[in-house]
Amino acid sequence: MAIRTVEEYKQSIRDDRVVYFRGERIKDVTEHPFMQITLSQMALDYIVANDPKYRDLFVDEDENGEPMRFLHKPERTTEDLLRRREIVQLMARMGFGIPGGSNTTGKDALNAIAVVCDRMDRQTGSNYRERVEAYRQRLLKEDPAVIGAVTDIKGDRGLRPSKQVPHQDYYVRVVDRNKDGIFVSGAKAHISLAPLANEMICIPCRRHKEEDKDYAVVFSVPCNAKGITMISTDHEIDDIDNTFDYPYSSSIFFADAIVIFDNVFIPNENVFMDGEWKYSGDMAYAFGNSHRLFADSYKYVELEILAGAAFLIAEYNGLERVSHVQDKLAWLTMYCEAEEALAEQACVKPVQDPGSDLVYPNPMYSNIAKFFFAENYHQAMKNVQDIAGGLVCTVPSSKDFFNPETRELMEKYLTGKHGIQAEDRMRAFRLIKDLTSAWHGTLTIHGEGSLATQRMSILALADVERYKAAARRVARIKSDKEHPLYEGLLDYPPKV
Ligand SMILES: Cc1cc2nc3c(=O)[nH]c(=O)nc-3n(C[C@H](O)[C@H](O)[C@H](O)COP(=O)(O)OP(=O)(O)OC[C@H]3O[C@@H](n4cnc5c(N)ncnc54)[C@H](O)[C@@H]3O)c2cc1C
Repeated sequence: MAIRTVEEYKQSIRDDRVVYFRGERIKDVTEHPFMQITLSQMALDYIVANDPKYRDLFVDEDENGEPMRFLHKPERTTEDLLRRREIVQLMARMGFGIPGGSNTTGKDALNAIAVVCDRMDRQTGSNYRERVEAYRQRLLKEDPAVIGAVTDIKGDRGLRPSKQVPHQDYYVRVVDRNKDGIFVSGAKAHISLAPLANEMICIPCRRHKEEDKDYAVVFSVPCNAKGITMISTDHEIDDIDNTFDYPYSSSIFFADAIVIFDNVFIPNENVFMDGEWKYSGDMAYAFGNSHRLFADSYKYVELEILAGAAFLIAEYNGLERVSHVQDKLAWLTMYCEAEEALAEQACVKPVQDPGSDLVYPNPMYSNIAKFFFAENYHQAMKNVQDIAGGLVCTVPSSKDFFNPETRELMEKYLTGKHGIQAEDRMRAFRLIKDLTSAWHGTLTIHGEGSLATQRMSILALADVERYKAAARRVARIKSDKEHPLYEGLLDYPPKV
């Protein structure tokens, strides 16, 4: 068992992987200026795990006293879920709202394969759990940066994977096999951090029918495997050293990539589903559930930053006692703290499959928490922009602030309330501009699954019979089969 150093991590991704960015193939991802933003995000996981101040939270010991990363271990109790939440929130507070990344989506994928392979083995007699455990032992021993690659590129959203035209590679699928393993082709989209990770766990993003069973495939694969091409997303900005004008985007870049698989070989020991189409939905759902708890945890910190920016700019503009501004500040506070309460409930009331020793976050609460922040984020952006005023989009560049010819004018006119420095106020505007960008809005809606996905999960989990029994009781409607919570209650109103 081991915890790698940052240098070991960096060395491990100098491996001739195929990554394109802005029209060029990157020779060495650790040396590329834009990828270095992502590298710093991911390296934080290795920094904290080696820092005596944080080590106890991130690292456990095995029976021989060897260190092992807590995040690679199975989750068996509420305490395990709460500890992961604490890790994500601490990392997010250090990382401007973003929790590192070397082992965050990978952890969700590892949780999903652990829970569903266990379920498949119990229900079908398959033997995947042994493979998952062997894989887990390798992760604990080698401490690689693992990510989750779930979202297929999809093509026509109205057609099933096998019915796509003009080709059938819009979803990743098995195209060939031999006695040692399978060959896969297809493409995943928006895969965060993939250009800087060591390996990815690939999971289907939807349910399948029998006709789509070639697409019912789950596996792990090194990011430099032969046949993998990654095309990174563009970045919002060019001026990445300018932390004044781009306080957030100069420091955060996910390098989300389209990951193309062209006949990539996956050895049997890394295959965790191969044709069991009835369980594709379970895999996608289990990943989504774990992933939503992760999102709910860091979003709380992101909302702290957003609410904080609103309080700061209200103060800098001399508006903190104005009633409509106070209404908006109260709304932002409620939004932020309700998010925390909902997500914590998902850990406090976990779920366990019968016969399994693994727990997972309460899917009702984790889905509601994710839906709640995504549904309300644009309202939050609106409130912050409303309080801040038009300078959010018209604020001059820091280059004018630092230009001796204009500095005095800006110092004179860009102060708000007396005593507030023009520079601080400008920095607050630039932060709000960065935080309320289209990128942020879209990430919030679609990252960790679009709104409709949570709605579907929530409705599927809804205790409809309880709700109906509650309504029947008040309307005095009789029913043959009462809900246990409503059965045998005292008559109401009591005769007194
Ligand atoms: C910044 C960012 C980072 C991300 N990181 C990752 C990552 O690391 N790993 C990963 O696996 N994924 C990642 N994602 C992907 C994310 O989960 C998807 O964006 C999300 O699931 C939506 O998929 P899509 O983008 O293909 O949009 P679409 O699926 O096209 O969704 C657009 C709209 O169409 C609706 N829709 C689509 N299909 C149907 C249908 N058949 N019936 C009815 N309605 C439909 C959706 O509900 C939505 O309203 C990331 C996304 C973003 C934006």
